[in-house]
Amino acid sequence: MAVVSRFNLSMLENAAKVPGKPRHKTREVRVGDRVVGGQNPVWVQSMTTTDTFDVEGTVAQIQRLEEAGCELVRVTVPKPEDAGALSAIRARIGIPLICDIHFDYKMALAALDHPVDKIRINPGNIGSHDRFRQVIRKAKDRGLPMRIGVNAGSLERELCEKYGFPCPPAMVESALRYIEIAESEGYHQMIISLKSSDVLVAVEAYRLYAQLADYPTHIGITEAGKPPYAVTKSAAGLSPILLDGIGDTIRISLLGDPVPEIAAAFDILQATQRRVRRPELIACPTCGRLAIDLEKIIAELEQRLHGRRLPVKISVLGCVVNGPGEAREADIGIAAGNGKGMIFRNGEIVRRVEEKDIVDALMEEVASWEQENAGKIAAASSGREPGEVEGLGRRKLPIVAG
Ligand code: SF4
Repeated sequence: MAVVSRFNLSMLENAAKVPGKPRHKTREVRVGDRVVGGQNPVWVQSMTTTDTFDVEGTVAQIQRLEEAGCELVRVTVPKPEDAGALSAIRARIGIPLICDIHFDYKMALAALDHPVDKIRINPGNIGSHDRFRQVIRKAKDRGLPMRIGVNAGSLERELCEKYGFPCPPAMVESALRYIEIAESEGYHQMIISLKSSDVLVAVEAYRLYAQLADYPTHIGITEAGKPPYAVTKSAAGLSPILLDGIGDTIRISLLGDPVPEIAAAFDILQATQRRVRRPELIACPTCGRLAIDLEKIIAELEQRLHGRRLPVKISVLGCVVNGPGEAREADIGIAAGNGKGMIFRNGEIVRRVEEKDIVDALMEEVASWEQENAGKIAAASSGREPGEVEGLGRRKLPIVAG
């Protein structure tokens, strides 16, 4: 006799089997040699902490950021001597330079006399709409893009009064208002951010915005504070945004040295599968059932895979409880038992090896997986095949250029 469930199982039958929402459709906006929006990668950016007029110190910090993988960099320009340093800085770095302006529209106009690649302003603290228009006109004349950075902490008083407090709809109305002013000047090279230090406010603001407008977004949780909590808080806020398909460039705001922001941003993009650039290692936490020295194996594997731009999923589990199941779902997997490892490729057992040979065997499988997928990996690296269109591997990890 068929068992009748009290649950609505037909809902499950109709549910999508492959999870993941498509990217929010946004326009493309060029920033130096990068294109933000559309199907382009979610670019990782950061901001310097030096005095911008200190050219040596600023360039040195940007170079450290570049080495870490930073793809766009922002410097603050509060004084004329900071604007004066922009040309010298731009000449010595390899990534697009963004000038960050608050309060003083004259500083924005001054900064735009220099070879920057983008300007970021917060119209909420820049004064009258006429001042905003002057900056827009100059950016338009120079052919430069602008980030309109709405921040819950500096929202126009009028909108706070209308909505009661700096809530998501108030922030989005602020952004839309400035978008319309810019559009009335014939200007469209905009990137929008809606930042808040409150995760719930930021998430809902970006979700609301994405229903209404199609300029690309810069995403971040502002003033996240000190690591490690700040990284967790940023991940908590940015993951729902990214999983909804929103976000075209990302910045993690950490107190202190900005260099760790880059690894944190790439980790969040990797975990949300918005930008998979390195092998995804699945390892269990271990427990009393552990049948191999898993920590040693993972440490060695991480070391040997370091720097490899391969979107391959590798599962290494410590015993036969979940080992075979996880291994079957990965591109390459291992299930350990009695000091031996069963190696899986594409869901099938391909061989059994001694514990001491597990890492070598996994690396051999990685090499042959790379060879099999060489065409697709090369196409993704050249930017001809944006990953989300097709994906790679058993569970279609998105592969992304860069
Ligand atoms: S896979 Fe095995 S060893 Fe690892 S946590 Fe699960 S039961 Fe424990």
